Amino acid sequence: MNKLALLFAYMRTLRLRNRFRTREELAAWQGRKVRAFLLKVRSQSRYYRSRYDGLAVEDWEQWPVMSKTEFMDGFDDLNTVGISKNEAYELAVKAEMTRDFSSKIGAVTVGLSSGTSGHRGIFLVSDRERAAWAGTIMAKVLPDPIYKKQRIAFFLRANSNLYETVQSRLLQFHYLDLLDPIEQHIARLQELQPTVLVAPPSMLRLLAEAMNRGELRLQPKKVISIAEVLEPLDEQYIRHAFQSVIHQVYQCTEGFLASTCTHGTLHINEDVLVIQPEYIDEERRRFLPIITDFSRASQPVIRYRLNDILTFREEPCPCGSLFKAIETIEGRMDDLFYGIHREDGQQRIPVFPDFIRRAILLSSEAVMEYRVSQLSPMELEVAVKLESGNNAAAEARVRQELTDVFRLHGCLPPDVHFTTYRLDAGPTKLRRIKREYGTAGAEDAPSG
Ligand SMILES: [Zn+2]
Repeated sequence: MNKLALLFAYMRTLRLRNRFRTREELAAWQGRKVRAFLLKVRSQSRYYRSRYDGLAVEDWEQWPVMSKTEFMDGFDDLNTVGISKNEAYELAVKAEMTRDFSSKIGAVTVGLSSGTSGHRGIFLVSDRERAAWAGTIMAKVLPDPIYKKQRIAFFLRANSNLYETVQSRLLQFHYLDLLDPIEQHIARLQELQPTVLVAPPSMLRLLAEAMNRGELRLQPKKVISIAEVLEPLDEQYIRHAFQSVIHQVYQCTEGFLASTCTHGTLHINEDVLVIQPEYIDEERRRFLPIITDFSRASQPVIRYRLNDILTFREEPCPCGSLFKAIETIEGRMDDLFYGIHREDGQQRIPVFPDFIRRAILLSSEAVMEYRVSQLSPMELEVAVKLESGNNAAAEARVRQELTDVFRLHGCLPPDVHFTTYRLDAGPTKLRRIKREYGTAGAEDAPSG
């Protein structure tokens, strides 16, 4: 492992934190970084050379946007390390089957993303980028300076070389496989007493429940939620059990997008990438992020549209950082619900996840957990866990609130039926709000 690259990235991240006095200064610096990056990539990647042929680098902010499908289809020519998709896929699948994640192709780590929308993504990271990534994430995430000892408990769906990078004398990483039973995790964590606990919110929730039952006693310095949307309801529950701010790392195959500061505000990592908003509602509040990551050249991400629905935080953060912050990660575009226009009976009208979320929370204070699936534009399946067991009155209110949301959008009210609530923390990502039909072509779904 390239310790020097790691340390360099760590120092760089700390230095950049206080380097800019205004947004303009930051934007100018980013512009210079991006232009230099694009010139380099265009000379190294056959795909980008032909895609952006003849376009002026100064106008990069208007260059054509890339979809996930294009990104994966162009894989072989797009990456700059000469790895084919077949080769990468074979290796990643084998690693997943044998649960041996140490294999690489040359100096490149291959990983498989947990695709929620059907097709899976493959990512490539060079050794140097891996070390730089580790340094950046340590500067942003660790509760103390790098020379302080930490025991980090890290829940993973699949172990990856990416995380092995950070193993050192001072940082002990302990991986917990999400596939293992919860009793085993509780016993192991109890003994380990991690200083940093990193897990998807569905797992944090189960651990919080075990804490509340007195079966688990932990006092980590930092609790970090990853890989799934941290719903306000879960955030509250987990925060209460751990008596601390719940931090977030917002990362995907396309980059290390954002992480929380000491105040728990989710700042965009504008020191490694640029996020341009593509607004998708009339109020210009919700957007899909267009990502340009100027810190990673092995598999360059340029003007890439991610399918997550985000909103910006309006007020500045008390931490003083100039980096923009994300108020909410509403969910994935694939989980956008659609209603049928009340008058013409045909037109599909988008209903954003946040409306569904709020409808559930407004309906009853007794709702502890929930799941809402849209089976068709006229059919919702709901599962709620209530404080006091089954409760017909609460269910009726949930039904009312949900049908009201559709009415307010000018849509026909859907059928709402109830099913038993279950939480499976495991290999499948938890999505409390989920659309179960017509995911194909969701990328092109109409907006606003
Ligand atoms: Zn902040």
